[in-house]
Amino acid sequence: MATSAPKPDRMLRQYELVDRVTSYDTSADEGLINRAYVYTVSKHGKQKRHNGDPYFSHPIEVAGILTGFRVDTPTIVTALLHDTIEDTDATVEELAESFGPEVAELVDGVTKLGKIEFTSEHSKQAENLRKFMLAMSKDIRVLMVKLADRLHNMRTLHFVPKPEKRRRIAQETLDIYAPLAGRMGIQSIKEELEDLSFQHLYPEARAALLEKLEAFRATSGDVIAEITEELEAAFAAEGIACKVYGREKRPYSMWVKMQRRKITLEQLSDIFGFRVIVEDVSDCYRVLGALHTRWAMVPGRFKDYLSTPKQNGYRSIHSTVIGPARKRVEVQIRTETMHELAEYGIAAHWIYKEGIRNAGASEEFADAFRWLKQLDEILETGKDDPEGFLENTKLQMYVDQVFCFTPKGMLITLPSGATALDFAYAVHTRIGDTCVGCKVNGRHVPLRTELKNGDEVEIVRSEAQRPTAAWETLVKTGKARAAIRRSIRQEREVEMTRVGRQLLHDAFAAVGKEPTDTVLERVFARFEYNTVDELCLAVGDGRVNANDVLRKVHPKLAEAVTLEEPSERRRPRESEEGLEKSAVRLSGASRGQAIQFAPATFPLPGERVVGIAEPGKGVVVYPIDSLSLGQYDEHPDYWIDVRWDVNEEDPPVFPCRFRVTLVNEVGALHLVTDVIADYDSNISNLELTRRDLDFYDLEIDLQVRDLRHATDIKIALEGLHVVNSVERPRA
Ligand code: MN
Repeated sequence: MATSAPKPDRMLRQYELVDRVTSYDTSADEGLINRAYVYTVSKHGKQKRHNGDPYFSHPIEVAGILTGFRVDTPTIVTALLHDTIEDTDATVEELAESFGPEVAELVDGVTKLGKIEFTSEHSKQAENLRKFMLAMSKDIRVLMVKLADRLHNMRTLHFVPKPEKRRRIAQETLDIYAPLAGRMGIQSIKEELEDLSFQHLYPEARAALLEKLEAFRATSGDVIAEITEELEAAFAAEGIACKVYGREKRPYSMWVKMQRRKITLEQLSDIFGFRVIVEDVSDCYRVLGALHTRWAMVPGRFKDYLSTPKQNGYRSIHSTVIGPARKRVEVQIRTETMHELAEYGIAAHWIYKEGIRNAGASEEFADAFRWLKQLDEILETGKDDPEGFLENTKLQMYVDQVFCFTPKGMLITLPSGATALDFAYAVHTRIGDTCVGCKVNGRHVPLRTELKNGDEVEIVRSEAQRPTAAWETLVKTGKARAAIRRSIRQEREVEMTRVGRQLLHDAFAAVGKEPTDTVLERVFARFEYNTVDELCLAVGDGRVNANDVLRKVHPKLAEAVTLEEPSERRRPRESEEGLEKSAVRLSGASRGQAIQFAPATFPLPGERVVGIAEPGKGVVVYPIDSLSLGQYDEHPDYWIDVRWDVNEEDPPVFPCRFRVTLVNEVGALHLVTDVIADYDSNISNLELTRRDLDFYDLEIDLQVRDLRHATDIKIALEGLHVVNSVERPRA
C-alpha cells in the first residue's frame, strides 16, 4: 500500500528504488533504471522545488509511488524522466536514443497530458478533459505515471506559496484526477487525492469534521478494534479462516455524504467500514451466513457483486448489519484477489501478470484497456438513472471524437476526421474566416490535415483572408461548413451591392443624374424589394437591369439614352481616363465572388476589359479582344464598363496561361520552370499537350500580378534557346 505509506523524510536512494522494483519483478532492467536515475538527476541539475528540495526528488518520488503498484521497468523509467522534456533541454529523440522508443513515447504522452491547462472557466470541460485523457492514453501506463505525478504534487502542495495556485491545483485534482483514478479502479489513489484536495479547498470544514471525529472517538472508545474482535470471534466460531480489517472512512467521503443527505456526523451511519478477506469464493458466502445469523441485516443494503459483478469487474459482497454494540456496521466480503483488483484497479493487472513483457500479457493489457473504456461508460450511468440512457449514448460517441488543444491549452473536441480548418472554426467563426495556415505540434501543415488526439493546433491568420468555396471540401463539421457558406454569401452580397450601385451610377450619369438613396427610395418597392440595398444587390447580380431603374425614375430622359454600340467599344481608346469615375472596379478580392472572369480568357490588370451583365448571371469580365464577346453584339444593354483597381502595395495574383513549344531535349523543361521561378511566379498547372520527336507543346498555368509581369516572363522564355514559341491562348 505505497500510497498510504507515510511520506519519507528523505529522498529515495538509487539502490533503494532498484531494490523495490527487483523485489517484485526479478526480470527488471536494473541498468536502465540506474541510467534513468542518473539522467534525471543530471538533467534537472540545480532546479529546485518550492520547499527548496532539488527538483529531481520529485520524479524519483513519483517512481517510488509507482513501485507500490508493481509496474514494469518502462513505467518506472518513464516516471523518472517524466518532466525532462517539459522542464529541461532533453528531447523526445534524445530519450529514444538513450532509453528506447517505448520509453520515449511514454514520456511524450505524459508531457502532452501535462500541457492541458485547467481553469475555473473551463469547469464545464471537466468531463471532456477526463475523456480526453482516456482517449489520449493508448497506453494506460501514461495515465499511471500522470496519476502518481499528481499524487506527489498534491502531497507537497502545501509548499506552493500562492494560495490561488494551491486552490486551482486542488480543484483540478478533485475535478479531473480523482475521478480518473476512480474510473481506473484505483481506489487508493482516488481517496488520497480527494482528501488532499479537501484539505486545501475546504480547510475549515475539514478541521471541524476532524474535531467532531476526535470527540466521537473519545466518548465511544476504540470502536474499530472492538468490532473487529467481535467479528473475528464470530467467524472463527464457524470455523472460517479469514482476516478482518476495520477502518475509519476518509474525511472527504464522510463530508460529501453529510452534504448530500444534509445530516450531521452523528447521523452518519457509515463512519466505519469493515473488510473480511477470505481464501475462496465459497468462504465469502459462509462469512455472509455467519454475519446474518448473528446480527440483523439492514434492508436495502445487501449487494451481491459476486454472482453479478459490476461491469468494471468489481466483485465483492456488501452488507450492513446492526452489529456489535448496536451500531450499524458496513461489511465488504471478498477474496484477496478481488481485494487487490478493487484497490489497485487497472494496476492490479501488473500485479498478476508480473509485468507485461511476459508472453500473452500484451493481450491482457489490451483487455484492460477495453475494460477501461466500458468502465467509463458504466460509472457515468448509474443503473435506474433516467438520464443514464442519454448520457450513455453521448459517451458511445466519444470514441468517434478527437481531442485537440490550442497553444494556450484550451481543449477543443471535434468529430474524428476533422481537419485543422474545422479546428479554426470550432475556436471561433472569426478565426476560421481569417485562417491562412496552421501549425500542428509546431509544424506547418495544410489546412486539410486530419487532426489526431492530443494535437496542439496553432492557427495562422490574416485579416485580409476570406473563405472561398473550395474550403467547403476541407471541412468535416457542419458548423464550419455553415460558417463558410454564410461568409461567402455575405461577401458576395456586399460586393454585388457595390457593383449594383456602380451600374446604377453609370446608367444615371448617362442622362446627367445621380441615383441617390432618396431617389432610389421612391422606386425599390416597384421592383418588389424592401430596401435600397436589396435593389442595388438585384442590379449587381443581374436580376434587375440598371436602365429599367432609370426608366422608372426618369421615364422621359431614359428614352433619349442611346447605348454605345459594341463595335464602338472595341475600338482602341486614347486613354481609360473617361472611365475613371464611372466604371465598375475590379479588384483581386472581388474576383470569384460578385465578378467572374469568362472561362479560359485569363484577363490581366493592364489589359482592357469589359463586363457583360447578363440577366441572372452577375457580371462576367472579358478581355476586349475575346472572341466570345461576339455573342453579345445584339445586346448593347448588357455591356458595362469595368476597370482594374488592384492594391499596388500588396498586389493579388491572377491566373495566366502560356502555350510553349519546346525543343525535345534533356533539361529543356527545367530551363523553362527555372525562368518562371526567377520571375517569382508560381506554376499552378502544367500539361503536355503534344509530343513529337523534335518538339513538344506545353500548356503552363501560372500566377502573375499583371500584364507587365506576364509579358516579362514571356520575353524571358522566348529568349531561351530551347523555346521555339510562346503564346497566350484565349477563348
Ligand atoms: Mn511532474
